[in-house]
Parts: sequence; C-alpha cells; structure tokens
Amino acid sequence: MTRVLVLAATTGYQTRSFGEAAERLGVELVFATDRCHLIEDPWQDAAIPIRFHDEDASVAAIVEAAARRRIDGVLAVGDRPTVIAARVAQALGLPFHSPEAAAVARHKELTRERLRDAGLPVPWFFPVAVSPESPDPVPLSYPCVVKPVALSGSRGVMRADDPAAFAIAFERLRALLRSPEVRAERNEAHATALVEGFIPGREYAVEALLHQGVLHVLAIFDKPEPLDGPFFEETIYVTPSSSPADLQDRIIEAVSAAATAIGLSHGPVHAECRVNDEGVFVLEVAARPIGGLCARALNFSAIRSPQSAIRDPQSAIRLEELLLRHALGEDPGAWRRERDASGVMMIPIPRRGAFRGVAGVDAARTVPGVDDIRITAKPDQLLVPLPEGASYLGFIFARASSGSAVEQALRAAHARLTFAIDPEVPVLTPAQIHYNLQHG
Ligand code: ADP
Repeated sequence: MTRVLVLAATTGYQTRSFGEAAERLGVELVFATDRCHLIEDPWQDAAIPIRFHDEDASVAAIVEAAARRRIDGVLAVGDRPTVIAARVAQALGLPFHSPEAAAVARHKELTRERLRDAGLPVPWFFPVAVSPESPDPVPLSYPCVVKPVALSGSRGVMRADDPAAFAIAFERLRALLRSPEVRAERNEAHATALVEGFIPGREYAVEALLHQGVLHVLAIFDKPEPLDGPFFEETIYVTPSSSPADLQDRIIEAVSAAATAIGLSHGPVHAECRVNDEGVFVLEVAARPIGGLCARALNFSAIRSPQSAIRDPQSAIRLEELLLRHALGEDPGAWRRERDASGVMMIPIPRRGAFRGVAGVDAARTVPGVDDIRITAKPDQLLVPLPEGASYLGFIFARASSGSAVEQALRAAHARLTFAIDPEVPVLTPAQIHYNLQHG
C-alpha cells in the first residue's frame, strides 16, 4: 500500500482531515508526532513518537520505522517539524525541500540574510541576544519591529515607535522567550531576537506548492484588516485577492524569488509579504502548508483542459488531498482553486481571561455565505492574547461570489458572536495562601 508520512505536533483537526483525504485516495498515513514516548500510544493512532527538539533521534526513529513499512511521500504540518521532514525525505530518497532550506525558512534571521544576499527587498535588520544580562539593543530607526527568530503565528512580534516603547517591547519579548512554555521547545534559536525596520503597506499571504523548483500558486489571500501593530494578529484571509493582476504577478514573482533564495524546491510553502511603493517585501516563506483549520478555506477542482475548470462539487477536493497527491509525486498543475471566493476569520482573543463560553453561534451560522463556524477554545481554558498567546477563539469560514461579500459575511457572523471571558483568577501557591492568612 502507498504510504505518506505526516509529521505534526499532535494529532488534531488537520491530521483528521489528512486521514479523510487519505481514505478517499486509498493511501495509508503514517503519523510522526511530538509526544511523550513513555506513554504507550495514547492516541491509539500508531504514530511514531518523536521529539522535535531531538532531530537526530527523530530522523533515526522514522527511518527505522520506514525500513519496516515503506514510506512513499513526506509532509510536515506546522513549522517545527519541517527540518526533520526534510532530513527524513533526504534519507529515504524522496523529493522534498532540502534540510538546509527548511532550516533557513524556519529561522527569520537566516531568511532575511538569504533574501538580502539575493538582492531582494528587505528592511534593515540585526540579531540580538535575549539573555537577562544582554544589554538592550538600539534600533537603527523608528518605527521598528522586534520579534523572535523561531516562533510563528505572530507570537512575540511587536512594533515600537520610540525608545520607550522599544524598551517595553524588548522586555516583553525577553520574558516570553524565557517562559517555561517556550523553553520547553529546547530550541537554541530562542536565545536570539531580530530587530528590523517596520515595513508599511498592505499584507498578502500566498499558499503554494513548489514542484521540482517551480512555484505553483494555489491562492493569494488578501488580509483586509490593517496590520500596523503594535501586535500583528492575523484575522481575515480572503481569496482571490482583489489586487490588480499586475500586482498579483509581482507578488508571485517575489515569493518565487524568495523561495529560490532560501533554497526551497519541492513541497508546500506558505508565504507572507507586505507591499508598498518600494516593492514587494517577502516577510517569510515557510516550508509548510497554511496552518490548521485555515486549510478548510481552500478547495480545488481538476482542470480538464487549460480553459475549462470542472465545477462539479463531486470532484472538488480539499487542500489536504492535494497535498497528499503532491507528496506522492503528482504535478499540482492539474488542479485549480474553486471559482467561488472564499475566506476565513481567525477569531482573535480580545483579552486575557478564562473562557466561559460563546453565544450567538447559531445566529452567526445563518449569515448568508457563512459555511462553518468552529469554536476551538475549550471551556475554562485560559485565553492569552498576542503577543504572548498562540491560539484563537475559533474560525469562521465563508464562501460567496466575490471577495468583498466573503469579507462582509465573516464580519457579520463575527458581530453576532459574544464571548464570555472572566478575569483570570490568580492561582495561589500554598505558601501564598499561608502568607495571606497571616497578614489578612
Ligand atoms: P510569524 O512567523 O510569527 O508570523 P512574521 O515575521 O511573519 O512572524 O511576522 C508576523 C506579522 O507581523 C507579519 O505578518 C506582519 O503583519 C508583521 N510584521 C513582521 N515583521 C514586520 C515588519 N518588519 N514590518 C511590518 N510588519 C511586520
């Protein structure tokens, strides 16, 4: 049986979507997930247990498993396992981005260096140490941005307009990078931050597959919400882009050049760029597909001939199926995104606190164009907004005949939702309780 290896942080929604797609294709999936290997197959999915921070052991475990059950294709979900995926592919002789390119793509400073060396537009930038002893850096100009080199989802990315704001932002980033959660990743890149010039402009995301070095664009997303800081929460993605065709061409050219500069060659890529009068600034080209649930915004139809796309819903496939087909060597040129405009809202966390529930979901579902609403926050979960947080309240999906109708539907649905968030009740240690009792 044909088998595809899927590397993921844990098994969750997206891995289930891969499972469904694999079933349709008659392909078997082998998962490799980051989990405690002392627990015997806790998810009952026979995944290969790996530790993302221990790349050598992870690669060895997967290659050993592949010797027993042949693997025919490799996919990585999320930023952290991309280098392991690339090393496994290399060891097994399967086409994929090279490990070097995957490592550069995952590291914001290395990415900047490659883009700069290739003559592509970049802001000024310099790396700084973030240990408690290291002195505060001095930005070259304002506004500037300070960010971790190896986190994702805009975590820790902050804009500062003057020295006082920069000092606060840098301290906040220092605290985040030294937090137990981030330290648990055991990634030495978290000892470094990047300071760079703020790039004004509109922002776009590009979802694509590199196929033997050639960029095959699956979607260009507009991000209609202004992303001007001080934090950079992603909210709305809408495709197709409403930007003029020549700008879309320039975006594709820039992403293609950036992918080449980084060395990416074969596999999924997700790029972010900002556009202004000075050009298209590619912020990053990640060696992975769009994150988690957002993939649901992308459906594809087969093209029979270059002129006619099949619109039969029976033949539409999800992004996950296209990714599996590509991992098994299929040329993505046979597929085109569906004709409808489509979009997703990643529902932002408005404030820190305990999530108690949401009202209005049924009403929001009735908004014309709304396809689905998924609340992913769990009852009583502590919600942490950006820049420290790493999650959303949930996702709203919409489809319509135009991008602006999609955007309207997403906003209208969101307006019908009311989230109950209680102020965080501090958890007291026994020593603190004792102290409070003693001192009233
Ligand atoms: P991540 O990988 O965590 O998403 P990015 O470096 O892509 O980190 O930054 C996240 C977001 O922050 C970007 O999508 C953009 O909106 C904003 N951003 C990052 N760097 C800059 C910059 N130099 N100028 C303007 N905005 C920026």
